[in-house]
Amino acid sequence: MKIPRRRFVITGISLAFTTLLPARSRAAPTSVSETDPTAQALGYKSDAAKVDKTKYPKYVAGQMCSNCQLYQGKPGAATGPCPIYAGKLVESKGWCSAYVKKA
Ligand code: SF4
Repeated sequence: MKIPRRRFVITGISLAFTTLLPARSRAAPTSVSETDPTAQALGYKSDAAKVDKTKYPKYVAGQMCSNCQLYQGKPGAATGPCPIYAGKLVESKGWCSAYVKKA
């Protein structure tokens, strides 16, 4: 059976759109931006060393997302989920004022 070239091309393009585009829409979560409204409200910094210690005096050197109770990233991962920023990733070396020392 011979498939007309035009039908073959149209079917191929249709398949590409129906299989590849949904996969793209399920792309990995993005990192939290420091300009995100929640991040700004909580003083999130992607690098804990850059926390404004005057504004956040409870910050203690060494505190970072990777040793926060709320951090859900895998050990050694550069980023991981945090329920405060649902659907986004925080840097393992980041920090925000919702920090809770891991027990
Ligand atoms: Fe990082 Fe904890 Fe703040 Fe989440 S709550 S951003 S894990 S310091």
